[in-house]
Amino acid sequence: MIVMKYLAIVLAMAAMPILFITEAAMALLNAEANSKMHKQAFGKLQDGRLVDLYVLTNNHGMTATITNYGATLVSLEVPDKNGKPSDITLGYDGVGGYESGKAYFGATVGRYGNRIAHGRFVVDGITYTLAKNDGENSVHGGALGFNKRVWAAKDVSTRAGQALELIYSSKDGEEGYPGNVAVTVVYTVLSEENSLRIDYTATTDKPTVVNLTHHSYFNLAGQGNGDILQHQLTIHASRFTPVDVTLIPTGELREVRDSPFDFTKPNAIGARIGQGDQQLIFGKGYDHNWVMDRSTADSLFLAAEVYEPQTGRAMEVSTTEPGLQFYSGNFLDGSIQGKGRKTYGHRSGLCLETQHFPDSPNRPGFPSSVLRPGQKLHSTTVYKFSVK
Ligand code: BGC
Repeated sequence: MIVMKYLAIVLAMAAMPILFITEAAMALLNAEANSKMHKQAFGKLQDGRLVDLYVLTNNHGMTATITNYGATLVSLEVPDKNGKPSDITLGYDGVGGYESGKAYFGATVGRYGNRIAHGRFVVDGITYTLAKNDGENSVHGGALGFNKRVWAAKDVSTRAGQALELIYSSKDGEEGYPGNVAVTVVYTVLSEENSLRIDYTATTDKPTVVNLTHHSYFNLAGQGNGDILQHQLTIHASRFTPVDVTLIPTGELREVRDSPFDFTKPNAIGARIGQGDQQLIFGKGYDHNWVMDRSTADSLFLAAEVYEPQTGRAMEVSTTEPGLQFYSGNFLDGSIQGKGRKTYGHRSGLCLETQHFPDSPNRPGFPSSVLRPGQKLHSTTVYKFSVK
């Protein structure tokens, strides 16, 4: 196909006057380059399966690379205030790191993002038990969550942007969850602006719980380039869900006012993180869910804004979800060697995970994460980049 197209271009060139040729041919070649994502081998899993890497770009300097292993965002390049692009997400150079890693770098997290208390929940009177992979609790879908699965990938690009669809069929009983669940994640690099849009859908054949989120660790100064304590963060939420010492919400929706959890105006992440606040002690820093101040469900809501003063990079996070987990990379301790042999020190990346609240299956007062046969879950999150 591709050979035929290029042959046609060459033939067209032969029939044209010289000046016109170069312009017309270049336009055709550019159109081809812009509309096509690039696919390459990413490596081999321990069981011999091969996984791929897809490179999505636009004309504004944004490049996202995504692997079908875990529907994972491997890198994200965006320009700084001088127009210089850098990779601003933490990760590994090869698939081996993702296969053995426990940090969820860039991952699609499911079937249930964040924690479920005691790895247990009840739907319609039936109790389900999950692997406890976080002390007494279950976190991020269990021992082999969606981030450790091989997804089927398809190029679904349109004029709106280069787009990769990833599909995974989670079996009834997988990791203890009921129902065969069909999940689709579409990553789109928008043509017109430096936005990475993530659209999720899911259906089930039995009542179950689903909470899908994206787990990139961002460092707007460039991955591996120090900590994120000088990043200025705004979260459009006047309440958060305080937790117990195992990071399970108590059920309270607490006002952020007069506390280190108030990010309603921009604040450096490091400004209050060391305060003796009990919630910060439980989280070893920020590791909490904020309750979005949204007035209507379903539409995109500007949840958070981040600004990095040295490089001028800014990020906006918009979502249809009711909650946002802000995790300040407290468990990073310098023991992981990431991309380009960079060492990831304490708080060298921050996660802004749009989601339903942690432990919702056990909290009737929280927005429900139950999905039933006949229903279709739709959720969208957009990470938009600019410079100031
Ligand atoms: C959780 C953290 C956890 C991290 C990596 C975050 O979503 O809130 O507690 O350490 O993911 O698993």
